Amino acid sequence: PILLEMRSITKEFPGVKALSDVNLVVRAGEVHAIVGENGAGKSTLMKVLSGVYPYGSYDGDIVYRGEVSRFGDIRASERAGIVIIHQELALIPHMSITENIFLGNEPRKNGAIDWKAANRQALELMARVGLREDPDTLIKDIGVGKQQLVEIAKAFAKNVKLLILDEPTAALNEDDSQHLLDLLRGFRERGITSIIISHKLNEIEAIADRITIIRDGHTIETLDVKGDGVDEDRIVRGMVGRELHSR
Ligand code: ADP
Ligand code: MG
Ligand code: MG
Repeated sequence: PILLEMRSITKEFPGVKALSDVNLVVRAGEVHAIVGENGAGKSTLMKVLSGVYPYGSYDGDIVYRGEVSRFGDIRASERAGIVIIHQELALIPHMSITENIFLGNEPRKNGAIDWKAANRQALELMARVGLREDPDTLIKDIGVGKQQLVEIAKAFAKNVKLLILDEPTAALNEDDSQHLLDLLRGFRERGITSIIISHKLNEIEAIADRITIIRDGHTIETLDVKGDGVDEDRIVRGMVGRELHSR
C-alpha cells in the first residue's frame, strides 16, 4: 500500500523556482532514497512535507495515509507521525540526552516533570537505537554519530511512522555510518517507513528499496533497487542530465 503521495509540488523562493511539479510516491514500510545534485531541491521537498513550509506557501497536494493533508507547521506533521531529521541536527548542546529526547514532551507526574521516568524511558529508546551512554550526558560531550542516534531516539519518542533523514551520514565516520544504515534496515520490520536523502550510491544500493531522482527541481524517475540492483550509470545520468564522460 501507498503511505505517501506528493502530487505536483511547486515551491518558489524569491527569484528561485526550487520545485516544479514534483511527484513522489512512497510505499508503506519501504526505505525510499532521494538522490540529486546539490541544489536539486531534495531538502526543500522534504521541508514541504514536514510542514517547515506550510500549506499555502507551495502548490500541489500531499496525500498521507489516504487523506489530503495540509500541515500548518512541524508540530502538525509530527502529530501525524512524520519526523524529519535535518542535515544540521536540532539538538541543544548544553542539555542532556534525556532532556533532548523529550524536549517539550516530558513525562509528568502530578503536573511536574518526572525525571526518573524520563531517564528510564530514555534508556529504553536509546537501547532501540543501540546508543550506550549515560542518559545524563550532555549532547556537546558525545560525537556526531551518537548525536544522530539521539535524534532517532527522539523520533521514536514522538511515535514516528515516516522518518526522513537528510544526508544522515554526511558527517559520520565509517563505523557510525554502518551502524546507522543497519538501524535503517531494521526499521522495515518495525513498520517504520523511511526516506533517506543521500549522495552516496553505495549506501543507497545497500539499504534502499526504491530511488527517486530529482534534477533541477524536477522529478526524473523512480527506480526499483530490488531485482536487478542499481544501474549506477542510469542514476548518475538522471542526476546530471547527460553522460558524465561527455563533459
Ligand atoms: P538540495 O537539498 O537538493 O541540495 P535545496 O532543496 O536545498 O537543494 O535547494 C533547492 C534550490 O532552492 C536551490 O537553488 C537553493 O539555493 C534554493 N533554496 C533553498 N532554500 C532557499 C531559501 N530559504 N531561500 C532561497 N532559496 C532557497
Ligand atoms: Mg544540498
Ligand atoms: Mg539538501
